[in-house]
Amino acid sequence: MTAVQKVAIIGSGVAGLAAGIQLAKAGVEVHLYESRADIGALGSGISLQGNALRVFDALGVWEDVQKAGFTFEGLNLRAPGPGAPIVAALPDVKTGGPDYPAAMGMPRPELTRILFEHAQRAGVQPHFGAKVTGLEQSDDSVELLVDGESAGSFDLVIGADGLNSTVRSLMGIETKPEPNGMGIWRTFVSRPAEVERSELYYGGPVYIAGYTPTGENSMYAFLVEKAQDRTGLDDAEASRIMLEESRAYDGPWNSIRADLEKGAHANYTWFTKHLVPAPWNRGRVVIIGDAAHSCPPTIAQGAAQGLEDAYVLTELLVQRDAVDETLWDLFHARRIPRATAVVEASSQLAQWQIDGNRDADAGGLIFGIAHQMAQPA
Ligand SMILES: Cc1cc2nc3c(=O)[nH]c(=O)nc-3n(C[C@H](O)[C@H](O)[C@H](O)COP(=O)(O)OP(=O)(O)OC[C@H]3O[C@@H](n4cnc5c(N)ncnc54)[C@H](O)[C@@H]3O)c2cc1C
Repeated sequence: MTAVQKVAIIGSGVAGLAAGIQLAKAGVEVHLYESRADIGALGSGISLQGNALRVFDALGVWEDVQKAGFTFEGLNLRAPGPGAPIVAALPDVKTGGPDYPAAMGMPRPELTRILFEHAQRAGVQPHFGAKVTGLEQSDDSVELLVDGESAGSFDLVIGADGLNSTVRSLMGIETKPEPNGMGIWRTFVSRPAEVERSELYYGGPVYIAGYTPTGENSMYAFLVEKAQDRTGLDDAEASRIMLEESRAYDGPWNSIRADLEKGAHANYTWFTKHLVPAPWNRGRVVIIGDAAHSCPPTIAQGAAQGLEDAYVLTELLVQRDAVDETLWDLFHARRIPRATAVVEASSQLAQWQIDGNRDADAGGLIFGIAHQMAQPA
């Protein structure tokens, strides 16, 4: 007997889909509400560390994910300027354990597609164009309002509705994402054969320039700059700014610039940071993923943490027979210290960049967190 029989999940990002897969596989009736009209095919690439891959395996999606991305080990640091020399080749910690690659890159739409297909196969019932607007809670159920109308009663509501979570507001939680002072340009381009792992360039006109392979023929590239108001730019202006800002970086950046010249789309967004203090639930409503925490992606752990939230929560819901304080205590004990460590380390690394602190032990911090993530969630 599971702790819940009928659950509403709000949001079809990685956290919501992962939660849906595990619950539906256990025979729970799962309704997934997503405000967008469909699952969405937009987005650049994403880096996934071993601990995220371990969750994919536990959910039964790893084989498909692996086929759709580019796995690799290690990280190269390159210098700005002519020839872009490799100044360090760093080994990776296998955060998922020895059975998984240290990391992989993949196109975000592919990841969403694979998770959605598995969710549907497991029996998750999707509702698109369905914006959650209200919650009314009694002792043993939650009534959900979608576009102002009742969508029925549920044993549990999981808010996986991202950074600007409506569920979080409806729970009365005031913590919100705050900009950390950095903005990022991202573009999805072709992969030069020499790019076989993530490479980062520190120094030069932006804080960080880099790229990650996502497939045989694809990779995403990014420039992290001081946050600026970039609203109102058309596609051509956006590509032009990214191209101009990248001129200090040689090597594979020449190929990235060639794609930008040909019209590769450049997307801009600000980094944020927030961490909702315990508890992440109010009665039978709980938030997971970016709804509960966000951080600059300096160690590429955001989605991994959302996946772990989803996995741990649904494992407890499947193994236990009641939604009670013990369940919430176990959930918070397994998730909040870990998510806190990631938010703090990611934010610290970003702050060292902003402050121009060259003496800080960035390598030590990254390795420390990686070793922590190597322990199962
Ligand atoms: C620039 C950048 C780069 C990043 N790179 C990485 C990386 O390389 N690796 C990594 O692990 N992480 C990375 N992250 C973090 C990662 O992208 C996020 O942590 C992750 O995508 C969050 O997933 P989620 O499921 O919690 O939320 P989301 O993916 O945001 O999904 C939330 C969903 O809820 C829906 N929704 C919102 N409100 C409502 C409502 N009221 N009703 C119904 N539906 C609603 C939204 O439409 C959306 O589909 C990066 C983040 C940024 C900003």
